[in-house]
Amino acid sequence: MKLTYLPHTLYFKRPFKIAHGIRSSTPIVITQTEHEGLTGYGEASMPPYLGESHQSVLAFLTIAKDVLNKFQNPFEIESILNEIDLIAPGNTAAKASIDIALHDLIGKLQNKSCWELFKGDKTKIPFTTYTIGIDEPEIIKQKIIEGSDYNYFKVKLNGENDKATIATIRSVTDKPIAIDVNQGWKDKHIALEMIEWLSDKNVLFVEQPLQKENLDDSHWLFERSPIPIFADESVQRYSDVDKVKDCFHGINIKLMKCTGMFEANKMIKRAHELNFKLLIGCMSETSCGISAAAQLSPLVDYADLDGALLIKNDLFDGITFANGKIVLNELPGIGVVQKT
Ligand code: MG
Repeated sequence: MKLTYLPHTLYFKRPFKIAHGIRSSTPIVITQTEHEGLTGYGEASMPPYLGESHQSVLAFLTIAKDVLNKFQNPFEIESILNEIDLIAPGNTAAKASIDIALHDLIGKLQNKSCWELFKGDKTKIPFTTYTIGIDEPEIIKQKIIEGSDYNYFKVKLNGENDKATIATIRSVTDKPIAIDVNQGWKDKHIALEMIEWLSDKNVLFVEQPLQKENLDDSHWLFERSPIPIFADESVQRYSDVDKVKDCFHGINIKLMKCTGMFEANKMIKRAHELNFKLLIGCMSETSCGISAAAQLSPLVDYADLDGALLIKNDLFDGITFANGKIVLNELPGIGVVQKT
């Protein structure tokens, strides 16, 4: 099978603040696999803090190309992805770009949507959250107005001015919010004090309150927290799911962390067996990566798939949103068409 790929850069509609400056773009790579005249599309997104780059993804795909060349049949997807995974550790976004392109292709070969192949029930699609980043109060208020179609907001906190941020939000909306701390609370006592303070403020869950390696303190917090706590950075791949049992109530699964749809589906099944709540999330991605993740959304409790709404130069038409919910289309594969 043939694999081709092209690097791109996505530009944000509104650049956002990070610890050492302003981020206004994210590097991505779009992949294509071909079989019997059909093309499957995939995407790797590489936010700089996760360690992958154009250079690392292109180097990985050069090797992956030879692996794919050996296979004639895309339906051998499990064997193909196993071999791709063995090329090198890490490189999860590069691996996801191949996984997504293969799923798109095998959906197209069967003329079926991936959500159908994953046995998803379209009536069970969860609401998606609209992200409010760390910002000045006036910008936060403006973003709440911009996100008025959405029923849930995802609010980023970092341990500085957190109560003031929540007060700003609660001065303009009483909609439910999910909190994402991105490991930003320094210790378990601060985390518990904050969560208790948040417990009467209509908060659905708190994502990654503590450092990702700190599972002992997460377990301590899990036993005391009045609000469900979710793992994001603490869970990358399938093998991490069992490790966080009794440390979190839920898990945020992202295709770019876990190498794609095949492994995400396995993680969802295992997480259900362990009674975790599930969120499917994203990086800054085009509608290609977002639509791929959305195919799995009927299998989870919450979706955080607003990545393509926040960029200026989407390269695909894919899933859409109506009244704060994902709308899956009937197109085969991951349901995308490349923009011309
Ligand atoms: Mg997160």
